[in-house]
Amino acid sequence: MDTKLLANLLYPNAKDVNYWLEKYPKRELKRGAEVTRLAPSPTGYLHTGHAYSALINKLAARKTGGIFYLRLEDTDQKRLIDNAGDIAYNMLVSYDLSPDEGYRGDELPQVGNYGDYIQSKRLGIYQSFAKYLVEKGKAFPCFCKKTEGLEDVEERRQKQLEETGEIEEHDPCRNLTLDEIKEKLASGEEFALKLKSAGDPNKTIKIVDLIKGEREIRENAKDIVLMKSNGIPPYAFAHAVDDSLMGTTIVVRGEEWYPSLSAHLEVFKALGFKPPKYAHTPVICKLDENGNKRKLSKRKDPEADVRYFIEEGYPKIAVIEYLLNLLNSDFEIWRTNNPTLSYKEFPFSIEKIGSNNPMFDFVKLADISKNYISHLSADEVYRMLAEWANRYDVEFFKTLTENQDFSKAVLNIDRDTPKPRKDISKWSEVKHYYDYMFYGIKNYELDGIDKKKLKEVVRAYMEVYNTEDDKETWFARIKEMASTLGYATDNKAYKQSPENYKGNVADVCTYIRLALTGRKNSPDIYSIAKVLGAREIQRRFENVK
Ligand code: GLU
Repeated sequence: MDTKLLANLLYPNAKDVNYWLEKYPKRELKRGAEVTRLAPSPTGYLHTGHAYSALINKLAARKTGGIFYLRLEDTDQKRLIDNAGDIAYNMLVSYDLSPDEGYRGDELPQVGNYGDYIQSKRLGIYQSFAKYLVEKGKAFPCFCKKTEGLEDVEERRQKQLEETGEIEEHDPCRNLTLDEIKEKLASGEEFALKLKSAGDPNKTIKIVDLIKGEREIRENAKDIVLMKSNGIPPYAFAHAVDDSLMGTTIVVRGEEWYPSLSAHLEVFKALGFKPPKYAHTPVICKLDENGNKRKLSKRKDPEADVRYFIEEGYPKIAVIEYLLNLLNSDFEIWRTNNPTLSYKEFPFSIEKIGSNNPMFDFVKLADISKNYISHLSADEVYRMLAEWANRYDVEFFKTLTENQDFSKAVLNIDRDTPKPRKDISKWSEVKHYYDYMFYGIKNYELDGIDKKKLKEVVRAYMEVYNTEDDKETWFARIKEMASTLGYATDNKAYKQSPENYKGNVADVCTYIRLALTGRKNSPDIYSIAKVLGAREIQRRFENVK
């Protein structure tokens, strides 16, 4: 068959591929510099899995002096949502994962010489390379309609391929003659373009995955779709063209793409491009009702959308550090040894990523976040908390900012010490955590408390406390009073014969704590009293007296 003629028939207006190859020359980067990309399909939110990939991409590029760019894969028209690209970009920015190049939301111009970075604006490029493949005899038009619409057939097959790696092999249309094709075109029949696969499924290819190491896959033998009948390429073809022209050196993507890798490799080969290196990342999972692992799902899990963490008030660095901890298990030890360094200093490596699918663990996230927040100064906590409250809890924002000095003093309780208290994991907790400071005591935790003793202690204590006391004197005074009232000041003695005492000093402290906070547990009571001040302490004591 005269493939050149066929190519001209199918794509009469497509530019020669050399036009694009000259327009997008090889990048001039220093040796070893990696070019990575995040290529989300704009769905209206940024999936936590995408943030996780973005982090890998960003760190790998930074470490080697390379480039991390953002490309929008918006060719799936059905899934298009207004502003979806913008949302994805802005989420990356909020997490300090901004790309160095590429699409930057709908407001800012794109940066970089390899654009357009939005796939739907690159249809002319795909046409050129589609035409090129026809010319080389590596692609053919398929007119199958079957009972479904042509697009549906292609979509179903593509989906099947992505999900299972299996679709029907060689398409009957690959045997059409030029005359038959001409006739169909003349009668206005639509066609999809397919790869004329030259693979042998009995042969295998060895590849080195940067995360999983050496892997062996069966060669592709399926005539996969390269261009749908509407002129839009599915992922397999679009990403092969884009990653080649944009000079991507590492494709970081979820393990769910691995089954279609052999088809992708065949596309690169047919195009005459060297494929990039691949890193198929483990997929963040949850346990379902039956105790089986399943992928994080936007429908079921709020934490699948990274905006959730912002709304809840997890500091973005804590979320990033949590993801980093999922990626490189030695991060935690590094963090303990380097409590004040930025996570950016951590010697991250793609090769250290484990191959098991990690589970999303809120307890771990909270631990990491508490640790992070505990190292912040009261000023920093105030700034971040106020910023959060301003958006998500306006009433609390007012309270917080009405008396800044007081708020900062509250946030400084148990903070300015060698072992700061690790209590706050997210900003939305603070209001409840310190409600007795900001809003007074609404109710007292009195279960198991002897009210008579409580009142007696408070009455006695009101006579002796002095807000000018330093911590030692303050405590000495409590002990002295405790002893006068008949409480044990020596724990050993108390343990030996508790019947001789009304209780011990710890009980006395609980009563004072209750009077000042309404709670049985709270941060350091001396600091709390200092922040409340003499007038307020007096008022609170009066309330229980
Ligand atoms: N558009 C694909 C996705 O949203 C990109 C996969 C890749 O990174 O190559 O998952």
